[in-house]
Amino acid sequence: MQFSDFNLKKEILKRLEEIGFEKPSLVQEKAIPVILQGRDVVAQAQTGTGKTAAFGLPILSKMQKGEKALVITPTRELAIQVSEEIFRFGKYLGVHTATVYGGSSYARQIKHIASSEFIVATPGRLLDLLKSGRIDIAPKYVILDEADEMLDMGFLDDIKEIFKFVPNDRQTLLFSATMPNPIKELAKTILKNPEFITITKKQVTNENIKEYFYVIDENERKDALIRLLDYKNPSKSIVFCRTKKDVDDIADFLSGAGFDAKGLHGDMDQRRREDVIKGFKNDKIEILVATDVAARGLDVNNVTHVFNYHLPLDPESYVHRIGRTGRAGKEGMAISLVTPHEFKALSRIQKIAKLTLKEIPSIEDIKNSEITKIIDKISSIDPSEKAIEIVEKLQNEYDLLTIATKFAHMLFSKEVDGKKRIGKSIKEATKLIQRSKNQNNDRRRGNRYSRNKNSRRKRR
Ligand code: ADP
Ligand code: MG
Repeated sequence: MQFSDFNLKKEILKRLEEIGFEKPSLVQEKAIPVILQGRDVVAQAQTGTGKTAAFGLPILSKMQKGEKALVITPTRELAIQVSEEIFRFGKYLGVHTATVYGGSSYARQIKHIASSEFIVATPGRLLDLLKSGRIDIAPKYVILDEADEMLDMGFLDDIKEIFKFVPNDRQTLLFSATMPNPIKELAKTILKNPEFITITKKQVTNENIKEYFYVIDENERKDALIRLLDYKNPSKSIVFCRTKKDVDDIADFLSGAGFDAKGLHGDMDQRRREDVIKGFKNDKIEILVATDVAARGLDVNNVTHVFNYHLPLDPESYVHRIGRTGRAGKEGMAISLVTPHEFKALSRIQKIAKLTLKEIPSIEDIKNSEITKIIDKISSIDPSEKAIEIVEKLQNEYDLLTIATKFAHMLFSKEVDGKKRIGKSIKEATKLIQRSKNQNNDRRRGNRYSRNKNSRRKRR
């Protein structure tokens, strides 16, 4: 299927070709024709599947002179991203976008709202403007983007209230990565006879992402992270932590260990957060250490690895997190550190994702893999004139073996150090996981036999 198969305006098709969108994604394929028909739509598809274009392209194509579209997004960062994306698509339609969020000038936003066809807003500020009567918009199209995140962030009531201010004669679209019940309920009240589009788990499982997990003890987390970073040598990665304190702690720790790492979390002021995101986008920062909330909707391409320093508590967060890599057809890897305390969370995640158990490489493994890489590289080299000249000059002073050894030395980037072994072997880990499963089953069944057996053993 191609974008030209849809009835999109020629200005849009031209632009898509320019920005290199070749093929519609699955959610785009399903949503675009239905939205073009004027139907309300509820669409569920994983993060990174192109939901912005799925609503942006058809709405831009349909929009008549004088009509307005309102997009509601959970965070300021997302509002900015969606706004930029729409503006990018709409280049040849001369579409204006206004981005509306808290903490920035009212006057400027009000002016932009008046002169823009697309308004992209966070719920709090939007409601504030509507309630105080400072703006009066009658959008023909209303889009709730990343609805599940708005629910998580406690915006449900605000959203319901916002709908009191928009006309009934409208087309409403709801996009979300997951579909928890309150969102389904909301959809029933604000959408009219919607078409439901679900890109099921199986279809969205991103074949480009390899998912691995490693079983370790709690006190091994930092060593394990460094060892895996040394081994995988990622060019651009995100390390997810559970708390802001962990973010600061790990970012400092990694910087201290010589990595270009920076933390990102909600307690940092807006200026610093923007600097960090920019640095990461521009490849000035190699490793971004972040909480789930801070990384919400972060749209950075070319992330090669996602590390779960701690497992997230719920499977949905896991899916959100790993969706930061393997984007736009590129390969990605998701790596999770798991302690026996986290086995329960692991088994919930394993219901929807396929994680392979791995062993953390030993120092010996790292050395061997480096050596193999260097040998491969050397065999593929076709020496230049300059190289030959250098060796000829060196031969006046050294024998060939010494010269070769010195060059080989130069190829090793850095010495790896640390403990010989970190974490559990596959055999140990499998045993621990099995034991924890058995214990849970016993507990669930209230298995008297095994309890008696244990107590008997204790008494003896
Ligand atoms: P989602 O909202 O589902 O998380 P986005 O709309 O943010 O996903 O899109 C993720 C990335 O993929 C963006 O950088 C976007 O420009 C890009 N993208 C979307 N659709 C396509 C497509 N059909 N071809 C190539 N890139 C695309
Ligand atoms: Mg999105």
